[in-house]
Amino acid sequence: MCGILGVYSPLGNNVSQKVMLGLFAEQHRGQESCGMAITDGTKIDLYKGMGLVKDVFTPKVLSQLKGNISIGHVRYPTRGSSTNKNSQPHVVETLFGPTYALASNGDIVNYTHIRKELEAKGVFFKSTNDGELILRYIVYLVEVEKKSIPQAIKEMMKNLKGAFSTVLLTRDTLYLFRDPFGYRPMSYGKLADGDFAVASETCALDILNPIYKTEVQPGQIIIIDKQGLKKSDENFSHKNHQHCVFEHIYFSRPDSTVFEKDVYEIRKKIGRELAGCDKDLNVDMVVPVPDSSNVIALGYAQAKKIPFEFGLIRNHYVGRTFIKPTQSVRDESVSQKFNILPDFFKGKRVVLIDDSIVRGTTLKKLIKIIKHAGADEVHVRIGSPQVKFSCYYGIDTPTKNELIANTKSLEEINNYIGSDTIKHLNLKKLKKVVEDDKNYCFACFNGDYLVK
Ligand code: 5GP
Ligand code: MG
Repeated sequence: MCGILGVYSPLGNNVSQKVMLGLFAEQHRGQESCGMAITDGTKIDLYKGMGLVKDVFTPKVLSQLKGNISIGHVRYPTRGSSTNKNSQPHVVETLFGPTYALASNGDIVNYTHIRKELEAKGVFFKSTNDGELILRYIVYLVEVEKKSIPQAIKEMMKNLKGAFSTVLLTRDTLYLFRDPFGYRPMSYGKLADGDFAVASETCALDILNPIYKTEVQPGQIIIIDKQGLKKSDENFSHKNHQHCVFEHIYFSRPDSTVFEKDVYEIRKKIGRELAGCDKDLNVDMVVPVPDSSNVIALGYAQAKKIPFEFGLIRNHYVGRTFIKPTQSVRDESVSQKFNILPDFFKGKRVVLIDDSIVRGTTLKKLIKIIKHAGADEVHVRIGSPQVKFSCYYGIDTPTKNELIANTKSLEEINNYIGSDTIKHLNLKKLKKVVEDDKNYCFACFNGDYLVK
């Protein structure tokens, strides 16, 4: 998963601070590396680094990044290993110096095939990242086949399969485009000072003071240059979309509007649906696994009219536990990440809510300490169906046999994590929550990969 950002200032204001702020608001989408490309019309400067936005873009670094058009990226590695080479934006140089820069969120399914085709034509790749493939494909069509940039984007859209929410920058223009299925979110808006901004999530636009914000439609190309903002006449959108439902469940921030729905409301609805399956369950309180399941647990507690309590306190300075390379390191990180309130669980019957189970690491650890603290009952409720299939569209799920739902039955999982009972939101109910389920991808739950 990744986050993208872009700003265009028609009045020629320096936009590097805005891009940094927007990326900072999207830090939850990737903490591995970040980068920014910026142009003042005469050159394109690129700055990337491993680590968090505020650590990479220090005031000193920002003071050297000047220009009125810029794109940025926060990375959480999907395709390509975690190195600076694979971090984005990518830049392509011509005889005239750096000429094109691009950042993308998503993953390309036919990466290997297209890369081989381009390599056979002599195109050189520096990384194994899908963003570089999108960029070099477009630049090949423009520089070698002499197509216009919009024509090149259209051709690329026809041939590249998968998920891409992308920003492309030249020295005078900012291009925004999104794959025809709209897998990943992407919104743009006009800011109060006249600048245009684009982001993966609306929470990043909000801090830039927008006067309006709206989605880049699936299959749409938007061009922002000195003449203003233009939408391409043709739209390559598929009739039905494939929005990633995991954006609602886990990935996006609850203050974002994603796929034209408020994430906060969707999560509360998930909680209400879960509570609807628990009419006969008598418990004392609902506790979320913070922060990702806070809103789901709130919806559950409100529907069931029982107290919502933070029994688990999270240390926000522990990095991601999920993607750590070995099980022992993941176990250790979960222990560092959560602590329980003293004398809180003794004699209590608890519903513990999480958004998803992947390997089962988090819940196994947490239930152990909650029971050790004297809880009488721990009932686990999960705001999504069982994750049984890997994602090829930008979420870094482990391989199929690392997913606990593939190696154990639900009863075995209940025993393994040590809960009294366990229930997932089923797919039918999740579809009811999102309403227009024909426009969503549920492949991680049902293996139904539309784009292969
Ligand atoms: P588990 O501990 O079962 O392996 O993973 C489940 C936990 O990881 C949940 O608390 C959930 O919020 C989080 N999670 C689920 N999917 C992802 C993901 O793609 N990336 C990260 N960083 N965390 C995830
Ligand atoms: Mg979580």
